[in-house]
Amino acid sequence: MDERSIAVVGGAVAGLAAADRLAADAAVTLFERQSYDEKRVNCGEAINDAPLVPLAKTPENGFLNEVDGFELRIFRGRDHGPADEPLGDARIRCAPGYITDRNVVERRWAERLAEKGVDVRENAAIGPDEFRELCRTHDYVIDATGQPALSMRAFGDLDAYTGEIVAVNADVKGDFAAIEAYPQIFFEGYVGYAWLFPKSDSRANLGIGWAGDERPDDYYEALTGACRRNDLPVPDRSETNIYTIPRGPSLDPAATYRAGENVFLVGDAAGIANRYQGEGICQAIRSSHLAAETIAEGRPETYPERLYDLMRSEYRLAHLMRGVWVEHGDARLLADVAEALDGLSVDDITRSPRRVVARVARHPGIAYRLLADAGMLRRVVDAYTDTWEYDQPHA
Ligand SMILES: Cc1cc2nc3c(=O)[nH]c(=O)nc-3n(C[C@H](O)[C@H](O)[C@H](O)COP(=O)(O)OP(=O)(O)OC[C@H]3O[C@@H](n4cnc5c(N)ncnc54)[C@H](O)[C@@H]3O)c2cc1C
Repeated sequence: MDERSIAVVGGAVAGLAAADRLAADAAVTLFERQSYDEKRVNCGEAINDAPLVPLAKTPENGFLNEVDGFELRIFRGRDHGPADEPLGDARIRCAPGYITDRNVVERRWAERLAEKGVDVRENAAIGPDEFRELCRTHDYVIDATGQPALSMRAFGDLDAYTGEIVAVNADVKGDFAAIEAYPQIFFEGYVGYAWLFPKSDSRANLGIGWAGDERPDDYYEALTGACRRNDLPVPDRSETNIYTIPRGPSLDPAATYRAGENVFLVGDAAGIANRYQGEGICQAIRSSHLAAETIAEGRPETYPERLYDLMRSEYRLAHLMRGVWVEHGDARLLADVAEALDGLSVDDITRSPRRVVARVARHPGIAYRLLADAGMLRRVVDAYTDTWEYDQPHA
C-alpha cells in the first residue's frame, strides 16, 4: 500500500506534536514560516504537563526550571504596594512542570522529527493558495498555524472565532531565587492577571493578560504598573511583545475538521486555549495526538466530537472560574475560592470540575456566595448545556 502523505502547516507545539505522532505511518512534511534558530515564541513558556513533549527534560532541550507549582496572590485591586499582603494566597501544585525556553524546546523537537524522517521545511510560509494546493496533493493536512487558522483564510471563514485575551510580556533579569519553585500569578481586581515565571534564579518571563470588556488604554503602562505594585523588574517598552490568546472553545467545535479537504485544525487554530488562564501548550499537543489517532484509526470524521469530549471539562471549569471574576467582581470571594483550592494541581483546577466542586463544597459559605448571583447561575446552566459564545450573536 502507498504511504499516506500528510502536510503539517505550522511548526510550533501543535504542529510538532502532530508530525511526531504521524511520522511512523506516513510521509510527513512540516512547513514552518520562521526559522527555528530565530527567537520565535514569546509566551509564559510554562509547560504544565511536560511528559507530553517527547524530549529529555534537560536544559539543553529548553527545560530550564522544574517547578513545584504556582503561587496565586489575590489583591483587592490595583492600589496596593509591594509590601502589602494579598487578600489571599494559594499554592497550586504542578508535577512535573517546567518553565522552558520554548524556542529551544521547539528547535530540538524539530531536529528530532528530521531524524525520524519528517521533511521539516523552515522559512516556509504557506499562503492560502498553497494551502489549497496542499489539500489537493496530500491525504491529510494539519492546520497548526495558530489563531486565526490559515485554513480559515484559505476557505474564507474568518469571523468564526469569538473572544480573546490580550497579553503583553517580556523576558527580564533579576533575583528570582525565592520564587523559582513556585512562580507567581497576581490577580488585582480586573479580568486577567499578571505573571512572573522564572526560567532560572536570574531570568524570568513576566507579563499581564486581560479578558473581558474593560481594557487598559495603554497596555504597556498597565504592565509596568503591575511590575511596580508587585516589585517586579520593569522591562523597556521595546522589549515587550503583545499577543492575543483565543478563548476556547472560541470556535464552533464542528469547524475543527473540514471533511471535504481532510483538514484538521489543532491547537490555537482550533481555538482551544484555556478560556480562564490562557494556557494552550498542553491543550495543543493533546489535540494533535487526537488528530493523529483518528487518522491511524481511519476515522478522521470523529475528530471534532472527540476533541470536544476531551476538552469539555476544561471548557466548563474555565467558564465557571471566569464567572468568579466577571459576575461577582469580588476580590474577597476570588481569594476565598483560591484558598479553598490550595494544594490541588494545575490539572485539577483546569480539567477536573469534580475535584474543584468537591473542594468548594467543603466551604458552604463560599459555595453559597458563589451561587447567589444570577449571572453565575446562568454560567452553570450554560456550562452544563454546552452553550458557548459561538452559539450567541457577538459583535
Ligand atoms: C503572552 C502569552 C503567554 C502565554 N503563556 C502560556 C504559558 O505559559 N503556557 C501555556 O501553556 N500557554 C501559554 N500561552 C498560550 C500558548 O502560547 C498557545 O496556546 C500555544 O502557543 C498554541 O500553540 P500552537 O502550536 O497551536 O500555535 P502557535 O504557537 O501560534 O504556533 C503557530 C505556528 O504556525 C506558524 N505559522 C503560522 N502561519 C503560518 C503559515 N502561513 N505558514 C507556515 N507556518 C505558519 C507560526 O510561525 C508558528 O510557529 C500563552 C500565550 C500568550 C500570547
